Amino acid sequence: MGIKTKEEYIASIGALKPTAYMFGKKLTSIVDNPRLRAGIEATGATYELANMPENKDLMITISPLINEPVSRFTLPPASIEDLVARVKVNRKVANYVGTCHQRCTGLDCLSTLAIVTYDIDKKYGTNYNKNFTEFLKHMQKNDLTANAGVTDVKGDRSLAPHEQVDKDMFVRVVEKRDDGIVVRGAKAHQTGSLSSHEIIVIPTRAMGKNDKDYSVSFAVPSDTKGLIHVVGRSSLDMRELDGCDIGNAYYSKYCPTLIFDNVFVPWERVFMCGETEFASEMVIKFSSFHRQSHGGCKSGKIDCMVGAALTLMDYNGTSKAGHLKQKVIDMIHRAETLYGCCLASSYEGKQQPSGAYFIDTVLANASKIHEGKEMAEATRLMIDACGGFVADLPSDRDFENPDIGDLLKKYLKAVDTVPVENRVKMYRLAEKLALESADTISDIHGGGSPEAHRVTIFRETDVESKKKAARRLAGIKE
Ligand SMILES: Cc1cc2nc3c(=O)[nH]c(=O)nc-3n(C[C@H](O)[C@H](O)[C@H](O)COP(=O)(O)OP(=O)(O)OC[C@H]3O[C@@H](n4cnc5c(N)ncnc54)[C@H](O)[C@@H]3O)c2cc1C
Repeated sequence: MGIKTKEEYIASIGALKPTAYMFGKKLTSIVDNPRLRAGIEATGATYELANMPENKDLMITISPLINEPVSRFTLPPASIEDLVARVKVNRKVANYVGTCHQRCTGLDCLSTLAIVTYDIDKKYGTNYNKNFTEFLKHMQKNDLTANAGVTDVKGDRSLAPHEQVDKDMFVRVVEKRDDGIVVRGAKAHQTGSLSSHEIIVIPTRAMGKNDKDYSVSFAVPSDTKGLIHVVGRSSLDMRELDGCDIGNAYYSKYCPTLIFDNVFVPWERVFMCGETEFASEMVIKFSSFHRQSHGGCKSGKIDCMVGAALTLMDYNGTSKAGHLKQKVIDMIHRAETLYGCCLASSYEGKQQPSGAYFIDTVLANASKIHEGKEMAEATRLMIDACGGFVADLPSDRDFENPDIGDLLKKYLKAVDTVPVENRVKMYRLAEKLALESADTISDIHGGGSPEAHRVTIFRETDVESKKKAARRLAGIKE
């Protein structure tokens, strides 16, 4: 089948028949809904960019599994070069779409399963790696997009899955049959689930021996019977439905809650079922990969924020203001530190027993802590450089209103040679970059909340070697 074009990708999503709701109504079409279409276009950009001759070397490679060219979004890393490409591809696409492209999470699941299914089979003699390899071939041959179903709704956070009053607070196996399993539960914040052909589920946390039914991993098509996508609100979502004041002219992001209402999964699509001790390996590997993906992506988003700040400085007549130039420099160095940390986690990666490669966990988690704080700072700096109209620009409909349109155009003009329409458009983009909740809040909670990054850093760091170095320098004999 080979690499899909963007048009083929959109047609393939349009051919799916998922059960989806938004604002209280059942949706009949996904690709024709302007809110969802903006998200689908962002994922579509991964296909569009891959087909541009100048990007092919970066975004397409030969899969050793099927010996054909594949998108890097379906390739579990098999070398340091592949780990490095993950970061570069994410920055390239984010720079193009200025928001989340929604395709990294699926790759992060594939990369995780390429390692962990092998480890489970080695211990238990199960068939999960074979199941996964067949699934991966399907993903690669058809150039598919997958969503990561990781975050369970979790109920009372102080209780383990089996301790919850309602036992469905974490996705669990409710029935085992000869031909497969039936699962029930719900996953929250499912970025781009309706832009995806497949939903890959892995556990959201480590599991104890009483959490066997919750230690489950599998993949199902996004329009599987019993799967219900409920699209969540985002701060600017009505703009897209309204077709006005959109800001980012092409792309957006949405995150549904995904309900698994007794969903059947055939055994050949199951990648873990009851091996509790491997749940933590799955979630650590996934979250590390995903925290690193974020850094590549968000450095690309800061690139767009820098562009918006500099352009508005040109439009406003402030491009020579020294303090604003310093602020832009402070945005750039934050993007480059984030990017550098993610690249470093690739260069420090190691081959795993399955043959697949894994990044350096501490560096990947350090990059995510940096992202959580510094994206907020980069946003603050952009808003500072752009001015107050990021907050309260009149609507395009007021600019078009015959009574007040000309007055608005007169008073919102800044540098004389710059058309007022361009200044207005750039303010709208800055508003979208700063305030689209579905994207900006992922800087903090996406890939796990900040405390999870800290805990992982401390657990994965060789603290004894650091204490030993200090004792030696202090002249303390062991
Ligand atoms: C925009 C966005 C996109 C996302 N996309 C995806 C996606 O595509 N796929 C996916 O699977 N997930 C996705 N996520 C989910 C993300 O991983 C979670 O939001 C994150 O793990 C936090 O979980 P939560 O939202 O349930 O918050 P909570 O777990 O309730 O956390 C809230 C706070 O409470 C703390 N806390 C929670 N439990 C405990 C405890 N037991 N002890 C001490 N402190 C605790 C946390 O550290 C945090 O500070 C996305 C999130 C966002 C915001």
